[in-house]
Amino acid sequence: MSLPVFALNLDKLSDDDIQMIKRMIPKLQLLIKAKEADSTIPTLTFDELYAPLDSNEQKFIKQFQKIKGKKAGIKIPWRGMSESVKLLVAIRDQRVQEKVKVTENGVTREEIKERTLPKQFLPLPVYQKYNEMMEAMEKDIGRRLLVDSGYRSSAFQLYLFVYYLQNHGYSIRETVKFVTLPGYSEHGDPKHQAIDFINKEGINGDPNVKEFEVLPENQWLLENARRFGFILSYPKNNLRGITYEPWHWRYDPKAAEKETKKRRKGKSRRSVPGMTPSQDKKHESLH
Ligand SMILES: [Zn+2]
Repeated sequence: MSLPVFALNLDKLSDDDIQMIKRMIPKLQLLIKAKEADSTIPTLTFDELYAPLDSNEQKFIKQFQKIKGKKAGIKIPWRGMSESVKLLVAIRDQRVQEKVKVTENGVTREEIKERTLPKQFLPLPVYQKYNEMMEAMEKDIGRRLLVDSGYRSSAFQLYLFVYYLQNHGYSIRETVKFVTLPGYSEHGDPKHQAIDFINKEGINGDPNVKEFEVLPENQWLLENARRFGFILSYPKNNLRGITYEPWHWRYDPKAAEKETKKRRKGKSRRSVPGMTPSQDKKHESLH
């Protein structure tokens, strides 16, 4: 007798499962709002996430931690679950000056508004390398990039995944194309920590990927980031089934060195423009 491997239907959740999620989300959102208010959301733990749920809901949500990524169509490697990471540095008071449209008496004009980014976290060694890299960028082109998204715990990733299921017909297989399952995100892998960058004018590729792509800061990264151990995880037409994310770089000195050697030998596999249409909207891209 073979037992079903998954209780969850990966193509589409059952009606009972969908009802369960609809009951859970409002409870979880209260918690998320509170964590957002004190800027500790990226370090959310599983215990904190489960606390507002009853025992059935806890059993249900825990199933998502056991989904085999490959079976759900995930082509990126398993990174491991993470919570309570040692030596996380909090990055506070990052400010961007953004262009916003203001309409007054029927007339729309653009205004520059300052916004402080929510607190972000990076493992200390990655934070140090990031700073070193930004000093070099500033020296070269007089610009710096800020951290739009750094460390994200696996529990927070799990919340995001469950939350975004509603946007994709409650299909796990569809949702993984936009939000990865806990344990697969480079944002939750302190050893290969990913950073999503934003520039000082608030440009982060959302909603327009091209806007980030054409930045001089981005050009500088493409030429120099490898020297500091950072590598572009999801270039155009990557083979990992992930849409192009020019803002998402991971700290991975070994991979960066390999890439440098490959390029020196002229064997770099360049992306072929126009092979697949690149995503032109960031929308929700939480890998
Ligand atoms: Zn990212």
